[in-house]
Amino acid sequence: MTTREQLHEISRNLWWSWHPEALTLFQRLNRDAFQASGNNPNIALKLARADVLTDPQVQAEVDSVYRSFKEYMESPGENQDAPKTAYFCMEYGLHESLPLYSGGLGILAGDHVKAASDVGLRFTAVGLFLRDGYFRQYFDPKGLQHDDYPAIDSTEQPVELVVDEDGAPITVTVHTGHQPIHLRAWKVCVGKTALYLLDTDFAANPYEIRFLTRRLYQGNRYTRIQQEIILGIGGLRFLRAIGESFDVHHMNEGHCAFLTLEMVREHLAAGLSRQEAEEATRASCVFTTHTPVIAGHDRFEPNLFTSTLAGFRDEIGFSEYDMLSYGRVHPEDGGEEFTMTVLGLKLSRSANGVSELHGKVARHQWNHLFADLAPAEVPITHITNGIHLPTWAAPASRSFLDVHLGSWTADRENQATWDRIDQVSDRAIWEYRNRLRSSLISFVNAHIRTQTMSQDAMLNRDALTIGFARRFATYKRAPLLFSDIERITQLFQHSDRPIQVIYAGKAHPQDEGGKAFIQKIYELSHRSAFNGRLIFLENYNMEIGRKLISGCDVWLNNPRRPMEASGTSGQKVAIHGGLNLSIPDGWWPEGYNGTNGWSIGDNASHEYEDPSVQDPRDAELLYDLLENAVIPLFYSRGEKGRPDEWIAMIRSAMKGLTYKFSAHRMLLEYIEKIYSV
Ligand SMILES: *Cc1c(COP(=O)(O)O)cnc(C)c1O
Repeated sequence: MTTREQLHEISRNLWWSWHPEALTLFQRLNRDAFQASGNNPNIALKLARADVLTDPQVQAEVDSVYRSFKEYMESPGENQDAPKTAYFCMEYGLHESLPLYSGGLGILAGDHVKAASDVGLRFTAVGLFLRDGYFRQYFDPKGLQHDDYPAIDSTEQPVELVVDEDGAPITVTVHTGHQPIHLRAWKVCVGKTALYLLDTDFAANPYEIRFLTRRLYQGNRYTRIQQEIILGIGGLRFLRAIGESFDVHHMNEGHCAFLTLEMVREHLAAGLSRQEAEEATRASCVFTTHTPVIAGHDRFEPNLFTSTLAGFRDEIGFSEYDMLSYGRVHPEDGGEEFTMTVLGLKLSRSANGVSELHGKVARHQWNHLFADLAPAEVPITHITNGIHLPTWAAPASRSFLDVHLGSWTADRENQATWDRIDQVSDRAIWEYRNRLRSSLISFVNAHIRTQTMSQDAMLNRDALTIGFARRFATYKRAPLLFSDIERITQLFQHSDRPIQVIYAGKAHPQDEGGKAFIQKIYELSHRSAFNGRLIFLENYNMEIGRKLISGCDVWLNNPRRPMEASGTSGQKVAIHGGLNLSIPDGWWPEGYNGTNGWSIGDNASHEYEDPSVQDPRDAELLYDLLENAVIPLFYSRGEKGRPDEWIAMIRSAMKGLTYKFSAHRMLLEYIEKIYSV
């Protein structure tokens, strides 16, 4: 096999997205093309320089990476006997070069797929081929966010159109009203698992239908319900068309829940009674909710639902009333909208939230659907989210772990492996931290030169570096840190204890509040009190995410509790020696132990308050912690010039949080508690 052939084979499997040794090789093929393409291995290979491809040293490295790829692909699946699982989600965050995600839900789904491959589960995922992806963020001179949609080119992506033996695309049909929508799909190999991306953008469909699968979370409710028909009903039909059936169907959030109705239809067609069909559907469906706020659940106005599902209703043979009942808490209430979560809850055998706190919130939230049960008895459990460590660990952390923990991937389930962090010297931990911070600062200095939003960086490689990057949904309260300008100015102005803060994040194009938050940070970043040390990084994506979570000393998370179902970005920092400074929301109450970061207020002090009370109070608690704990601790140096107590906290965080909040742990828990009956 030639070097190019080996690289080609590797490039067609997203396995490279969590194997930096592979990515580094692609980068070497043509650095400029790699960078200009947003780190796309397929483009780097297409434009590979001949002198690199023929370099014997490169060839030897390709051989070695190719061998590990084959070994991974051929290794027996440890969980082959676990139920064969189909997974449905609207978005997938696998790599920055394939932007099919907007935020945490997609990143979680991407990590779930990769971990399913790692643990050797028989697993297939379904999503949409969002050709325009989520948007690319740019700014006008006033710091107002604008959105731009560079289309994904399928010829430059590791996607294959799914075809039959004669090479003709395999298609299925669903309906919007009575109009047919034709679907085809692109296959993406993610290690040993496959992801099928449904696509309407081809000649069989009229213009307005072709556009349907292009954009994520945009357009009106009519577009959205059609996308959800495609994902749920179309997704299941497509799996059938390629001859696949599954023991478990995992609905990751409500967008895909129409698949349950399609399954009921299949069972009816096979001769089951309606009750039997519902029971058989429930027996193979499981549902995960991610939305702690009632208003955040996906819902459709009854007329829209009834007219858009008219074609499907003919196929399933139900009355309009019966169809609506599946998505209503009170079917007899003619004004009640059709809620996807209600459908998911009614037609699944298991439901879960994504952190312990969120499980509890969800049980209260849906108590009215199970009116004869006490809140604690509502059948919604939780599996706490985790992150795919190989995707998020910086190359420097891999070498750090290899040196200090030995064979950590093989023994990651064993706490004793992580306890070996105790034996690492303070010096090694502090050098590791300084190296990662410095590498982030170099990245920031280069990145801001490419931005449309003008930013000056005068970052100090030794200063306490605080990071905040996530979607700019208003409940996440990005500018909370700047709610008392006098107080934050004092912290920035302190000459012996400098701090610097780096932000990144996109606001949804229709979220004026979120865009105003970015504008506020932009405006502040140009004030002399903060200039050069308050930075906004443009166009947040997985690459910027990786840099920030590895380089920051403190990861700030201040959502309005309990609106963050889990959050995962804070889980990514632990392995890099970063510390969380977080509201006790989502995963953090399970992670925080008093020695591994900070909790902004305690569990009891927040719940369900009026934002006009909650926000200033949380800001107050945040300032108190920064002034009295975080900053003094970072700058309290021992004889060797190191912050000894800070390093002790890093140790505690790395030891206790890394495996506990990994996708590996999460997958094993899903297999044991949710997928298996
Ligand atoms: C991890 C991650 C998220 C999720 O962040 P939260 O802080 O949990 O909301 C969103 N976007 C990107 C690019 C990420 O890497």
